[in-house]
Amino acid sequence: MKNISVLGATGSIGTQTLEVIRAHPDQFCLTSLSFGTNATLGVKFINEFRPKRVSVATREIAEEIKGTIDTACQVYYGEEGLMEVAVDPDSQILVNAVMGSIGLNPTMAAIEEKKTIALANKETLVTAGHIIMENARKHGVEIIPVDSEHSAIYQCLNGENIKEMSKMIVTASGGSFRDYSRKDLEGVTVEQALNHPNWSMGSKITIDSATMMNKGLEVIEAHWLFNTPYDKIDVLLHRESVIHSMVEFIDGSVIAHLGTPDMKVPIQYALTLPDRLEVLKGKRLNLVEVGQLHFEEMDLQRFPCLRFAFDAGRIGGTLPTVLNAANEAAVGAFLKGQIRFLDIEVFIEKALEQHESIKEPTLDEIRQVDHMSREYVQSLLV
Ligand code: NDP
Ligand code: MG
Repeated sequence: MKNISVLGATGSIGTQTLEVIRAHPDQFCLTSLSFGTNATLGVKFINEFRPKRVSVATREIAEEIKGTIDTACQVYYGEEGLMEVAVDPDSQILVNAVMGSIGLNPTMAAIEEKKTIALANKETLVTAGHIIMENARKHGVEIIPVDSEHSAIYQCLNGENIKEMSKMIVTASGGSFRDYSRKDLEGVTVEQALNHPNWSMGSKITIDSATMMNKGLEVIEAHWLFNTPYDKIDVLLHRESVIHSMVEFIDGSVIAHLGTPDMKVPIQYALTLPDRLEVLKGKRLNLVEVGQLHFEEMDLQRFPCLRFAFDAGRIGGTLPTVLNAANEAAVGAFLKGQIRFLDIEVFIEKALEQHESIKEPTLDEIRQVDHMSREYVQSLLV
């Protein structure tokens, strides 16, 4: 039996993690969970899974749910509450599926408690990859990817010598606007941007997919997870999302990971590896039905956010922190209808340009730069 804590249980990854746990009650036990503001779903999960510890976004929500849960559990709130769930003494594995760099502190705390980390929360690695990976090495903790591309690469590298890898090829579906010209993008609405062709995900990552920032964040994530230089990471547009990513080796062999676009597969693998379990309701890949697979070169002029991410990653220091925080702030503003779609990239570029990168930043410096970058984007709104 594996005891599991889930941060962000009411989100897209969180609910699918709970589906995996629900499908295998003999394998997994949910000992603690967190959510933000979705009390209706959160309380439903608490009453079903009966975790011992729960955390919510605010004190008000904590008070509100205490009267409606029919099980004895500790209810925490705020950032401290996230930490309580992350270091839950009853759990061995932390699934971090919270959205944004708010996931950084709980990840650090869980590493120090030697929890295995199943990481969906890519913003954490983007903002502080060097510190997370160094700390994980120091404590002998494994950071297991949940992101489908990174889970694919992880599996392509199984039993291989990473020194014999010549490059990794991260695939990208292209997001909601893959067939739009720059001109077409000028008037797009939030509703159009949220309509992803292949994956059903939370709103922030769906916008990140449309701007291609998601792929940029994933490039930085791959750099840290697999300790791989940026010139060995390629991005390939592959609209069917059947190949989840590939690895090319020095003898020219290429190993690819294929499957239907279903996040339950990488989530479950992160909880069971190196073993596998049946995914009960999953649709199987039928290549005859798929018929053809398409590949296109990634156009960095068409998708400037991907270029910003490669540049920020290569320069390093606090630039990836600025990239991530400015993106979170700009996407938040777009979702609230405060800015246009193309303003997202303009704001990120401005934030990057005005920042003087700090080399080898400490966690405090990262937190400060994260905060200042969000404030900078806010200042552009007025
Ligand atoms: P969602 O927006 O669907 O879910 C986010 C979760 O975090 C919700 O449970 C939300 O709670 C909670 N949350 C948000 N803000 C706070 C806060 N301030 N305090 C406490 N809890 C908070 O996101 P996704 O599931 O789509 O994505 C989660 C992470 O996984 C992201 O980093 C994303 O990039 C990554 N990822 C997602 C994939 C996907 O298919 N969705 C694929 C690969 C990676 P509530 O809703 O109750 O407010
Ligand atoms: Mg992904």
